[in-house]
Amino acid sequence: MTTVIEVAEDTCDRCGPSVRAYLYARMPSGRSLAYCGSCGTRYLAGLLDQGATIIDQRHRIGEL
Ligand SMILES: [Zn+2]
Repeated sequence: MTTVIEVAEDTCDRCGPSVRAYLYARMPSGRSLAYCGSCGTRYLAGLLDQGATIIDQRHRIGEL
């Protein structure tokens, strides 16, 4: 099964539009969030606690 999370922007919700997102979360409410590597690492546990579905692309950090 493939998980798809649609987000408005492929950039970090916390850092702003200049920072690419690598970790995506869909909350049980249906809200989607996107985070860069550092923010994703910071918020991952909390997101999971809230029952979020996660797509973790942090292994792609540094790829072109
Ligand atoms: Zn960030």
